[in-house]
Amino acid sequence: MDIERIAVHESAGRAFPLSALVESLSSLSVPVERVTDGERYGPGDCVVTFSPREAFHDAAWVHGVRAGYDEFDTDAYEASGTALTNSTGIHGDTVPETVVGYLTMFARRLHVYRDQQRERVWDHEAYEVPFTLTGERVCVVGLGTIGQGVARRADALGMDVVGVRRSGDPVDGVERVYTPDELDTAVADARFVVLAVPLTDATEGLIDAGVLDTMPEDAYLVNVARGDVVVEDALLSALDDGRIAGAAIDAYWEEPLPTDHPLWGYENVVMSPHCAAFTNHYHEDIAELVRENVERATRGESLRNRVA
Ligand code: NAD
Repeated sequence: MDIERIAVHESAGRAFPLSALVESLSSLSVPVERVTDGERYGPGDCVVTFSPREAFHDAAWVHGVRAGYDEFDTDAYEASGTALTNSTGIHGDTVPETVVGYLTMFARRLHVYRDQQRERVWDHEAYEVPFTLTGERVCVVGLGTIGQGVARRADALGMDVVGVRRSGDPVDGVERVYTPDELDTAVADARFVVLAVPLTDATEGLIDAGVLDTMPEDAYLVNVARGDVVVEDALLSALDDGRIAGAAIDAYWEEPLPTDHPLWGYENVVMSPHCAAFTNHYHEDIAELVRENVERATRGESLRNRVA
């Protein structure tokens, strides 16, 4: 593959300043340009983008700046012969640190005190409400980059870590690994269930009313994966009926989440606007992936993180 130009699509500006990525890629011998919708692509182009566009199918290679590529039509990429790569592998610190933040908020009730601070209220939760993470069970569903990052940190905090993995093979720091068909057993005794799977046919609607019913009533759901891994109505009903203790959500069924969506209204729900992966060096991490693949392409080697 002969790459003659790297086109940084404007949508990548959702993750970092475009100028920062262009600057980080400037050491490559290939010219780097910012492009907007309406641009035409050819067989010498690599496009770096947040969102898919049909026009990209004329390029040689498209790099998505997110780990999830569920919005990209992989069949169309196979048909056009355009390589598609994703950004798996770079979220092993950012998203897991965010997850530790959610878990700590719920255990130590920090979300409640932050809400009270706005109202200048001096009050603490009832004696039986706060707890420690130490000794509590977390079930991590999906043990890839993010899942393992969560598991390592939870283990270091003294938590009892279990997980769900397709192969069922052991993972460092995970006390017991279940297979997807054992999901109910895996979540049954968990105080926290953390979702770190990609959105696929197998994971769409994975967390339904049945799974939420199986979780203990004092359990929290954490979704840093994709909205559609969770059945929206089932989650809202479980929250309404107090069948789970709360949820931390970074990924939604519709983004941005409409301002009239009921999820905004729950005191026991912590929401972040799909930004668990954001960090001030994101552009560097992406540049590193692109740089490595440009070098691989030049040497005629297969691309890292190729998904189509
Ligand atoms: P990854 O590819 O490193 O890990 C995903 C893991 O899930 C893999 O180990 C895979 O084998 C496993 N998996 C796939 N299907 C499964 C199933 N049915 N049951 C159990 N495990 C299954 O990706 P990652 O970087 O860890 O990211 C995981 C997902 O998190 C992404 O696909 C993306 O949707 C989401 N994500 C969200 C953010 C955010 O900002 N909230 C950031 C990065 C990634």
